[in-house]
Amino acid sequence: MKITAIETHVCNARMRNWIFVKVLTDEPGLWGWGEATLEWHTRSVVGAIEDLASLLIGEDPTRIEYLWQMMYRQHFWHGNGIVRATAIAGIDIALWDILGKSLGIPCHKLWGGPVRDYIRLYCHLGGGKMEDFYETHPADAKRFAELAQQAVQEGFTAFKAMAVPETMPLEGLRPLHYAEACVRAMREAVGPDIDIMVDCHARPSPRMGLLFAKALEPYGLYWLEEPCWPEVVDDIALIQRAVKTPIATGERLTSQHAVREYLEKRACSVLQCDITHCGGFTEMRRIAGMAEAYRVALAPHNPQGPVSTAASIEFGFATPSYILCESVHKDVPWRQDVVSEGFTVEPKGQIVRPSNRPGLGIEINEKEVKKHPFQPEVLQRTFYPDGSVGDW
Ligand SMILES: [Mg+2]
Repeated sequence: MKITAIETHVCNARMRNWIFVKVLTDEPGLWGWGEATLEWHTRSVVGAIEDLASLLIGEDPTRIEYLWQMMYRQHFWHGNGIVRATAIAGIDIALWDILGKSLGIPCHKLWGGPVRDYIRLYCHLGGGKMEDFYETHPADAKRFAELAQQAVQEGFTAFKAMAVPETMPLEGLRPLHYAEACVRAMREAVGPDIDIMVDCHARPSPRMGLLFAKALEPYGLYWLEEPCWPEVVDDIALIQRAVKTPIATGERLTSQHAVREYLEKRACSVLQCDITHCGGFTEMRRIAGMAEAYRVALAPHNPQGPVSTAASIEFGFATPSYILCESVHKDVPWRQDVVSEGFTVEPKGQIVRPSNRPGLGIEINEKEVKKHPFQPEVLQRTFYPDGSVGDW
């Protein structure tokens, strides 16, 4: 079997352009799907995939590790920058899909078979609708509580909110009070049995991140995410040590090499490396092995499209330390029109039962994808009150 072509199919889903990667083979009807969505960098990733394709055309698609090594190491520059690591991931995921299909078994069975009966989904507040998740004002604690109740009514037992406002490197009590009021309102609205996560989006400085972590500690968060920039591991490690709340991070890391220091410094309880940004299943499985040695949980970042979700679920069924699957369902109303999925979601508890279909168990409807061609992503820019540049 040989790879004959690598195509990208871009599908504009409002906030993101989903980049679906299709790897074709010389076996009639056999191809694989991957995803390499990287918002605000769509054309860069599509170009990077085109560049990588020159290494792969004519090769055997079932030699996945060999091809991964070529994609990462050849042409001199290593593939650990975000654009190239995402491009590699899109192709790698498609190669595993091909291998599963060629053998007639789901991807998770390629990696030792299911280690659990179901996977729990968590949602974004508002189901991933951009205005609800990213734009609910931090002063509006009541709205946070309403959206939290809505998530629970939809069957979710876990959800994530952006309850920490954009803050300058140092601010007074106001943003802390905002965050605390929002989290308190959500906790009171849903009770003690629902898991609440707060994503700081790496907005705070290390010290503001620590202050937020301390302020939110009494509310029993399931995790506090990216409390400061990921660039300095010691800063996150300090927050992780200072509170009992589990700290989650890793969605901006792109390789096992970046993850190593986080583990060695005991900087987090949850690693959120994104299968579509860290070199695909091949590298993610190495990261999972490293995390296992430190008993750190895995909850891959997944606010993207349906191939990314299928990838996260296949990975989760084969990975013991995987705890939870991120999901969005209200980003665009036609989300389910572009994909046919092999797994099933039980509305009560929003739990996923495994797919029995080969590979990722999905098919992408290319006709539907074509209805939503590339558009520049909605700009999400942040400026502080004095006009200086902030983190979104
Ligand atoms: Mg995040």
